[in-house]
Amino acid sequence: MDVSPFWLAGSPATGEAELTVTNPHDGRVVGTASVPSPAQVERAVAAAHAVRKEAAALPLHVRAAALAHVSRRLSERAEEIARLISAENGKPIFWARGEVGRAVATFRFAAEETRRFSGTAQRLDTEAAATGRLAYVSRQPHGPVLAITPFNFPLNLVAHKVAPAIAVGAPVIVKPAPATPLTALLLGEILAETGLPEGMFSVLPVPNDRAGALVADPRLPVVSFTGSGPVGYAIQDQVPRKHVTLELGGNAAAVVLADADLDWAATRIALFSNYQAGQSCIAVQRVIVEAPVAEAFTAKLVAAVESLVVGDPADDKTQVGPLVSAEAAERVERWVAEAAASGAKVLTGGGRDGATVAPTVLADVPRDAKVLREEVFGPVLVVQPVASVDEAFAAVNDSKYGLQAGVFTRDLALAFRAGKELEVGGVIIGDVPSYRADQMPYGGVKESGTGREGLRSAMEDYTYEKVMVLTGL
Ligand code: NAD
Repeated sequence: MDVSPFWLAGSPATGEAELTVTNPHDGRVVGTASVPSPAQVERAVAAAHAVRKEAAALPLHVRAAALAHVSRRLSERAEEIARLISAENGKPIFWARGEVGRAVATFRFAAEETRRFSGTAQRLDTEAAATGRLAYVSRQPHGPVLAITPFNFPLNLVAHKVAPAIAVGAPVIVKPAPATPLTALLLGEILAETGLPEGMFSVLPVPNDRAGALVADPRLPVVSFTGSGPVGYAIQDQVPRKHVTLELGGNAAAVVLADADLDWAATRIALFSNYQAGQSCIAVQRVIVEAPVAEAFTAKLVAAVESLVVGDPADDKTQVGPLVSAEAAERVERWVAEAAASGAKVLTGGGRDGATVAPTVLADVPRDAKVLREEVFGPVLVVQPVASVDEAFAAVNDSKYGLQAGVFTRDLALAFRAGKELEVGGVIIGDVPSYRADQMPYGGVKESGTGREGLRSAMEDYTYEKVMVLTGL
């Protein structure tokens, strides 16, 4: 099997070691990634630093054309890329195709935003003392971006960092997750077709114990991290003076109020607590349901969960595949067993076969159980009946996390109340918390992170406002 080269300052290269990637479903070898040596990493960082001024000066139409090219090529190679994502991550092909479609859009949105991202003029003569003065406000990139990405969306979460970096004229170095580097390397192949200046991008699958050196490097002033809280906060502590963006985990809640369409709510919650085997930061983990409809809703929910097709991720019909590894599945199984031992009822699921955990619904879960308090990152849903809307919203907020929440209601006043009271980065009315449009601001509060992605938001994050004052006008 060929070894996938990494991308060093825009060119393919091979290094000192290899990283073998296996399919979590059957253990089959999917491919091998070449791992750069420390000297090669140094060359990539030096190239990003050296090109930063040229990158910032790249005409907007050149950036937009490069981004549009990537979008088009991802679309042309969609099925091949979806197969690769599915194989290295274990994600059902149905969801992998969806991820590629989203990445096509992410690069297209970036191309469009690039053309809109120019400066503004501000007259200052609103004050007598500033008569004759005009401010021109532009946005300047902080400099090269270090993009550290997780395994669960090996393409689109890389896209959410690479596309805005190119859009603002910042070189970018991607450090992909060790479980899923091959998709990021394939994206590197497409980026290399754009003709962007040398050093504008690198994709370096370095092992975790060498990632700290990249984080610490002063030539990479921006660290954009998506992943788990412990790693994210360790990075922030490591470089408190850098511009660090953290997109972290969650234990997302869906609220089902008494006036909701129960069939719609049950179908959506069943699907989105199990999509990608629950390995999404906004997968539904807690469902908070008003007492009058709790029994009827729970019956529909369990039926919807039991109807999900679990199996081989390569099969078109599969909705729920394996977790990223058997160890991850064992942990989830253990957390479910711990909850059951302390009194939780397993309404369905609970079992495990290799890396695959059966879609699981739990009730009567003690307040301090890990399946409720921590991020499960597995196909496990906890049902919590509540007596009132007040209790429902309090239950959502009873979490150290705050990424997104979903509220199923048809009452506009309650929808606005949810929008005001829920302590999260996004409130989704009429659907699951897992809803994300790639062009909207996205990110968390509390321990779900700081900063926002979504093209426009990430472009603002990677830049600072610079004012030039013109005098004597
Ligand atoms: P992880 O924290 O284990 O790894 C994330 C990345 O950090 C990987 O590339 C990893 O190699 C790297 N890393 C590990 N140790 C490092 C170190 N010492 N220095 C620098 N980099 C290091 O996370 P994961 O298991 O890949 O992903 C799952 C997590 O990501 C979940 O918590 C999930 O909620 C979160 N996530 C958040 C979002 C969001 O947008 N908020 C989206 C997807 C996933």
